[in-house]
Amino acid sequence: MTAVLVLNADCGPLHRVSLRHAIRMLFREVAVVHEAEPGRRIGGYPMPTVVRLVSYVVTRWRHSRGPAWSRTGVLARDRHSCGYCGGPASTIDHVLPRSRGGRDDWANTVAACGRCNNRKRDRTPAEARMPLLVRPFAPTWALSV
Ligand SMILES: [Zn+2]
Repeated sequence: MTAVLVLNADCGPLHRVSLRHAIRMLFREVAVVHEAEPGRRIGGYPMPTVVRLVSYVVTRWRHSRGPAWSRTGVLARDRHSCGYCGGPASTIDHVLPRSRGGRDDWANTVAACGRCNNRKRDRTPAEARMPLLVRPFAPTWALSV
C-alpha cells in the first residue's frame, strides 16, 4: 500500500495516509497535490506522493480559553465529516477509547460516521489501522463552533 505524506497548509508534515485516502481528500478539495509521481495519473489527478491541506489545522493543544468541549462542537469543528473516511458523520469517536482512559476533550475526539465508529470499536487508530485524516484540535472562539 502506497502511503501519501500529508502536509499542513504551512507545509509542516502531519502524517501519512493511504493513497485512497489521499485521493478522497483531493476529491473533497480539502487537500491539493504537492508532489506527484511523474507521468502517473489516478482518478484524474497526478498520482500524489505528497498532498497539502488547503486550510491550516492547529496541531498543538492550546491552553488559551476556548469553547468548552461538546459533542455538537466536535461535529461542527470537523464540519460533520468523518475523521477516518471523510464521509458524512453524525457521531463522535474517542481517538483513545474512553474504556481505556481516553477523555472527553477536543484533542481526543473526532467526528465519525457510524460505520467507522463500529469498525474502530475500542481500539486506537493505529490498532484499527484507521489513520486519521486530520489531527483533532481545540478550536478557538474565532472558529465559531
Ligand atoms: Zn467514516
